[in-house]
Amino acid sequence: MSVKEFIKRYAEVTLVLAAAGSFWIAGSQLDIFEWFHQFSRAHEGYEVDEIVWGILCFGVASGFFAYRYQEKQRREIERRIQAEDDLEWLSKHDSLTRLPNRRFLQKVLDSKPCDDFIEKHARFGVLAFDLNGFKKANDLLGHKAGDAILKQVSRRIQSADGVNLAFRLGGDEFLAFVDFPTREDPVAFASDIAKVITRPIDIDGSMQFVGVSIGLCILKEDAENLTDAIHFADLAMYHAKRSRTAQVARYEPNMLSTNMERAQLEKDLISAISANEIKPHYQPLIDLDTGEITGFEALARWYRKGHGFVPPLEFIAVAEELGLITELSDHLLRTACLDAKKWPNHVALSFNISPLQLADPQLGLRILKLLNEVDFPASRLELEITESALVNELDTATEIIRQMHQLGIRISLDDFGTGYSNLSQLSQLEFNKIKIDRSFIDSFQRDDKRMTIVKSMLALGSSLGMEMTAEGVENGAQLDKLRELGCNRGQGYYLGTPADSDDTLRLLTSHSAQHVTKAG
Ligand code: C2E
Ligand code: CA
Ligand code: CA
Repeated sequence: MSVKEFIKRYAEVTLVLAAAGSFWIAGSQLDIFEWFHQFSRAHEGYEVDEIVWGILCFGVASGFFAYRYQEKQRREIERRIQAEDDLEWLSKHDSLTRLPNRRFLQKVLDSKPCDDFIEKHARFGVLAFDLNGFKKANDLLGHKAGDAILKQVSRRIQSADGVNLAFRLGGDEFLAFVDFPTREDPVAFASDIAKVITRPIDIDGSMQFVGVSIGLCILKEDAENLTDAIHFADLAMYHAKRSRTAQVARYEPNMLSTNMERAQLEKDLISAISANEIKPHYQPLIDLDTGEITGFEALARWYRKGHGFVPPLEFIAVAEELGLITELSDHLLRTACLDAKKWPNHVALSFNISPLQLADPQLGLRILKLLNEVDFPASRLELEITESALVNELDTATEIIRQMHQLGIRISLDDFGTGYSNLSQLSQLEFNKIKIDRSFIDSFQRDDKRMTIVKSMLALGSSLGMEMTAEGVENGAQLDKLRELGCNRGQGYYLGTPADSDDTLRLLTSHSAQHVTKAG
């Protein structure tokens, strides 16, 4: 029964009681009761007074029950109205953090008082928040811990300086209306809020860290109305997220076009991955003592129609964000193994593993399955892991490296010198090979400090019994110096540029012919 029907019934009962009351008053006014008394006295035999008594008793009892019924209905109506209010509240709030939700935000945007509210604030702006690393914490620690993190973050946002009203828009996305100080730099102000939000969170006695990316847009400075400001703060937030260095970004007009370009790039990448259009090219790795090709590093190449080749670092990062890195990497590794099967057996295949893949505990199993599928020996495969990946995922990386060693796959530490790995990590993780980042090779001959570093890297490698490869060898002088310093492997444009599968096969044939001629 709807509230409307309840009200109807309530009105009916009230009407009946009102009619009875009116009848009583009218009766007393017209002396009907005296007349009735005389009539019943005169006609005792009719038992009229008993009948009337009966009717009266029935009337009183009905009145009593009607009253009770009416009270019950009233309480029911109140309960219903409360329940409907609660439902209305729930539909506009997030039940976990109790913050207003996206629907509430829409109501705010549709309402006129919102404009008056903004007028009253000197420097009013919007902050869009997105947590970094929340999904991982949620997966690793469980949903209960994830919920606790979200609650704590929402409390911190709500009580942060300048925040008027905070919303949870879903998942780990939040939004806040903020009063910015008129004199202070708003980016610095938002950075302070970020610092508060990212303080470690105590979950059952262990400290958890989540990061945050914040987009910022100020009304009347960056946007004309609140709807635009919210959209622009969101764009700025994505910008901050992708920059990998900035935690807070303020909206700039070019972000709109960047965003559209990015959306197109994502679309093209998705179709390129599903059509297997991204292919590995191969760059030779050379033994500096003998000049022989010891292996090839597979480097992903995507020719995007209308745009030319897209740098792998760019599209790999996008594939990671889209959750497509596993699919892409599996396809590249499968193709590379099939190509490498055509090379002489002693020529190894080096393959890059992205930092995100190192967080996947299933990685070892998947590589093993793939090698079995294409029948490629694990002993010919070498995985390259960058130093920065180790810093973020040391525990999982250690386990994956251990599994790889068991399978007979070798591991290279890539871009050495650009991260923070220390000696104890190096000896613990048992790398087979270290690749000195090309930024050192580029400058070591004109920079004494860099020369010292390269020398100590080579000394370190030889003391740990690791093979050392110099990356980015671009000229003969660098090559001579590296040989002189005792570096045993090299890679770079001077020694061979990346080439497709067919050219790689041709290179291998001509290379071995040269060696046969030399030997002859
Ligand atoms: P990386 O692993 O350090 O690969 C070496 C990069 O240096 C390649 O760039 C290569 O073309 C470039 N290079 C080689 N010799 C020279 C030289 O003499 N001078 C200069 N200036 N550069 C040289 P590329 O192909 O643009 O790849 C960039 C990065 O993208 C790679 O750095 C690697 O981290 C990543 N990458 C490439 N392919 C893949 C892939 O299939 N999977 C993953 N996860 N990452 C990949
Ligand atoms: Ca590499
Ligand atoms: Ca490298």
